[in-house]
Amino acid sequence: MSTSGETHSHGGRTHTHAHGHSAHAHDYYVPDLPESVDIFDTILRDGSQQEGLSLTVDDKLRVAEQLDHLGVTFIEGGWPGANPKDIEFFARAKKELKLGTATLVAFGSTRRAGVKPEADTVLANLIEAGAPVACIVAKSWDRHVAEALRTSLDEAVAMVADSVRYLREHDLRVFLDAEHFFDGYRGNPDFAIRVLAAAEEAGADALVLCDTNGGSLPDDVGQAVADVRERTSAQLGIHCHNDAGCAVANSLVAVQAGATQVQGCVNGYGERAGNTDLSAAIPNLSLKLNIRTIPAERLERLTPVAHHIAELVNIAPNAQQPYVGNSVFAHKGGLHTSAVARSADLYEHVQPNLVGNGTRVVVSEMAGRSTLAMKADELGLELDGEVIGRVLDQLKHLEHEGYHFEVADGSLELLLRRATGWTADFFTVESFRVITDHASPDAANASGETDPMDGVDALGVTTEATVKVHVGPDRIVATAEGNGPVNALDGALRGAIGAKFPALDHIHLTDYRVRVLDTGRGTGAVTRVLVDTTDGERTWTTIGVSENIIEASWQALYDSIVFGLLHAT
Ligand SMILES: [Zn+2]
Repeated sequence: MSTSGETHSHGGRTHTHAHGHSAHAHDYYVPDLPESVDIFDTILRDGSQQEGLSLTVDDKLRVAEQLDHLGVTFIEGGWPGANPKDIEFFARAKKELKLGTATLVAFGSTRRAGVKPEADTVLANLIEAGAPVACIVAKSWDRHVAEALRTSLDEAVAMVADSVRYLREHDLRVFLDAEHFFDGYRGNPDFAIRVLAAAEEAGADALVLCDTNGGSLPDDVGQAVADVRERTSAQLGIHCHNDAGCAVANSLVAVQAGATQVQGCVNGYGERAGNTDLSAAIPNLSLKLNIRTIPAERLERLTPVAHHIAELVNIAPNAQQPYVGNSVFAHKGGLHTSAVARSADLYEHVQPNLVGNGTRVVVSEMAGRSTLAMKADELGLELDGEVIGRVLDQLKHLEHEGYHFEVADGSLELLLRRATGWTADFFTVESFRVITDHASPDAANASGETDPMDGVDALGVTTEATVKVHVGPDRIVATAEGNGPVNALDGALRGAIGAKFPALDHIHLTDYRVRVLDTGRGTGAVTRVLVDTTDGERTWTTIGVSENIIEASWQALYDSIVFGLLHAT
């Protein structure tokens, strides 16, 4: 690592020192922006630390395929040797994963204190994993060395040097994750820099500065990265956590100060407040700073991939997630929406289609004719003035009954389509029935079923639904058990029509919410049910309202299935 030198070159960038130039509002050295940065996704390793996120090996392979489809540079696959699942992942990845743009990375740590690299199992597992790149974590905060590793600072530096050298000798590219770098740099900058220097001298390909506790603020990160940039010609990476809500901002200032590898997770998964959300970092870098990240023509895959991954990890997408959320280009309110129609850039910070999202008009009883006309336009429906007036009346009437179309885009679309004379002819419902049976668990166990918990919750309540439908000339009756009325009805309806509509295989409910309106009336009150459904890439919400919770649930479920079939064909 050099302490002087006027020009550094790596990763497609050349930056010359430009002390004192005033293009940026910083009083420290700011290099020219890089042409490109490497995007490094760690959903499969760091992101999987998120509470409630658990992936099978199959899930991990599917997520990796999505990341490759998006076009990230690196996919961190896991920690081979830490658990059997990650060992199996790397073994299967070698055979099954065909990566087009991404390179697979195996994660590990430096050798243990007092152990020779050739005798260290973590390093052996990294080599065994067969990924071309190893990312190894090292303590760069002196207090962690003393209090967590309980070894000397010299040994900690030697652990880094030995491990990087050993992996390089085995033909692996090596990234060094300098853990707690920013806290360490504040407390003992000499030691933090010694760790980086040892890695660089031993042949590390990238030095990744980690804000492991996630509490750093952008100015600190920018300053520290700029300091390090002055002292090394190695590629620098940035790895942030979002505990202070600054992970994306910190990643951007790090790039502006000289980092050319950005680590994080699509959708910002990770323990505590999560990692840098790459779904925001990528478009910020590409669209606003003009820095190449994923291939430009793939940026429009961002929203579908983010939603697909949310589906694979089984976490409902956040509607307000910047760039890719369902609500982030949604507009409501008369004046505002008509202005959006005239000049979207007055109200939208980027064109939503650039990231595969879309402008959405939100319609509620407050909507005027122009909002409704725009919504129809958005859906490609032609509604004349008379029909719009009729729909508006209907909308107001329904909202008065308890419907809330603002949050039920799926049902709203069906309402508008029906106003044009369209009818859903996929199937017709003759009747449905739901029976809930409360029996003691002992009795259920004694019934001889192989799995007494099938359709039986912990209290011994079974719900069974029967639906009778017609598809074309066929009358079909199907019955299913479920862990509640919606689940049972969904199962029965799928049982009845699934064979006729294979698209249903890819469509399933992700959330179900019940709200009791008019609570003053107690059990006689009106119930509003919202159902969220996904086909893996798009999510829609449908609504039902009734004094009867089963009827309300059925309406929402029926609309959800009809909407799914409509868009699958
Ligand atoms: Zn991390």
